[in-house]
Order: sequence, then structure tokens, then C-alpha cells
Amino acid sequence: MGLLDKLRGGLAKTRDVLAGGLRKVLFLGRTLDEALITDLEEVLIKADVGPKTTAGLLDELRAAWKSGEVKKSEEVAPFLEKRVAERLRQGGNAIVAAPVPPTVILVCGVNGSGKTTSIGKLTKWLKREGHRVVLGAADTFRAAAVEQLTIWSERNGVEIVKQAQGSDPAAVAFDAASAGRARKADYVVIDTAGRLHTQQNLMQELEKIRRAVRKAIPDGPHETLLVIDATNGQNAIRQAEQFHKVVGVTGIFVTKLDGTAKGGALIAVRDTIHVPVKFIGTGEQIDDIEAFDADAFASALFRS
Ligand code: GDP
Repeated sequence: MGLLDKLRGGLAKTRDVLAGGLRKVLFLGRTLDEALITDLEEVLIKADVGPKTTAGLLDELRAAWKSGEVKKSEEVAPFLEKRVAERLRQGGNAIVAAPVPPTVILVCGVNGSGKTTSIGKLTKWLKREGHRVVLGAADTFRAAAVEQLTIWSERNGVEIVKQAQGSDPAAVAFDAASAGRARKADYVVIDTAGRLHTQQNLMQELEKIRRAVRKAIPDGPHETLLVIDATNGQNAIRQAEQFHKVVGVTGIFVTKLDGTAKGGALIAVRDTIHVPVKFIGTGEQIDDIEAFDADAFASALFRS
């Protein structure tokens, strides 16, 4: 199965809502008017595109209608697809690279979002690209997190830096960054805690981890990846906003796009925090990861 087929397969439920919904309201010969735009709004909201992004897209459609760029109802879906792809393409999907390796990637996100699994997938993906990877288990609050990350490191045959549960996450981050440099790794991927009592706590914790990384690698961390669970729909948007405010996200990893009808949330998350989606998760297996392709994603949602 090709990558595109896999993506289309994973997004089938979201496509049913979005492309299916559009097909119903955009029947052949229907006049393009405000009544149609109201129907479109309902479809986009149902597909979890979110109120703000929906309003933005429909404003663009109105402008294109007034200027004569879009005249007929059958031109509407291709227009929306194009505009969504343009939004999603901004910033590209490449991992920010350190001028001198290793590149340090901090991974954050709430527990249960698929953070550990995504680190496992990302590690395999990086290895397949020919890179040497060191993992850092800086989510020291949950014993299970360290255990799971250890399993992923074994599966991938990469080194993991860890300490006992409850130890200082910043110390683990420093050790991981130092080990990465000493072993001439290309990437150091650091898992961080998913939840602390308050935002203030989380911010302080992440800041401590950042400072610790910088002691070993002065221009690090180079990338802060936020893992977001697509099945959370509108809550995913709020989560992304909160994390971005606290930690300053540079890339998004959207998980569980397979089997959800809420894939439209990806568009809203990207549009709300203005950070590019870099990877998507399309299943529970280690190979169920794809570098994000804006055009393929938009086409998989808008073309039935
Ligand atoms: P963490 O608590 O954020 O570290 O989450 P885990 O990595 O333990 O993942 C939580 C659950 O989500 C596990 O059952 C994973 O198999 C599952 N999961 C992670 N990513 C995906 C994905 O892309 N698709 C699906 N269907 N499940 C996923």
C-alpha cells in the first residue's frame, strides 16, 4: 500500500464528514450565496475545523466569490482544499537542524496523547534516514513512562539515558545531551513530563530542562515538538494553545488520525498556534508515522 493510500485510508472517517458533507451541500448548479456559505460553515464545524479557522476560510471564499475567482458551487471544494493546503504548508515539515550535531528535540504533550509511542516512531524514522539517536527519559514522574521508553529504545537499538523514578528531569536531560555529544549522535530526543500540578510548574520544569540541555549543548534544544491527540477534537486546540504559551512549541506531531472523524482539528491546531505540523501518527505500530504532507492531507480530506 502506498503512502497516499495509507493516508487516505486513515482519514476515511474525517473525509466522510468533510468531503461527504461538502458533496451534499455543493450539488451541481446550486447558486453560490450566503445560504450556501452557512451550509458550508456547518460542514466545516462538524469536521472539527474549529470556529476561527472556519470563519477565516469562509471569509476568503466570500472575497473570491466577490472578485469572481469562484463563480460556481463546483469550484468551492477545490478552492477550500487549495486554501487549507496553503495554510498547512507554511513553515514546512523539516525538523529544525542544529548547525553542529546533535540536534536536540524536546517532546512534550499531555499523558495519553501518544507521546512515548511517537518518540518510538520518530526514533525509527530518524534511524531509517541514517541517523544516530540517543533518547533521554526526562519524564521521571511516571515509572511507566521510563519503562515504555526503554522498550522503544530496545526495539530501535538505540541508547537511552535514564535515572530512577522521581529523579531530577533536568539532570536526565543534561546527561542525555552530554551522551549525545560524546557519542557523536545526530539527534537527542528527550521525553518530558505530560502533566504537572500547575502551568507555572510545567513552565519552570521545562525551563530547567532547557537550561540543563544548554549546559551541554549551548544552542539547544533546537526543536520543541508538541504531541497532540487528534481524537480530542476541539480540546486539542485548547491544549495546543496552553502548551504553546508555556513552552514555545516549534513543531506539532498529531497522533491517532487513523479511525477518528476529528482529523479537521489538525487544521485548527496549526492555524491557532501558527506552528507547522511536522509528523502525523496513523496507527499504533512503529511504522505508523509520516512526515506531514500538506497537499496530500488536504486532498485526502476534500476529495471523496
Ligand atoms: P503517552 O502517555 O502520551 O506517552 O501515550 P502512549 O505513547 O503510551 O500512547 C497512548 C495510547 O495511544 C497507546 O495505546 C498507543 O498505542 C496509542 N497511540 C499512540 N499513537 C497512536 C496513533 O497514531 N494511532 C493510534 N490509533 N493509536 C496511537
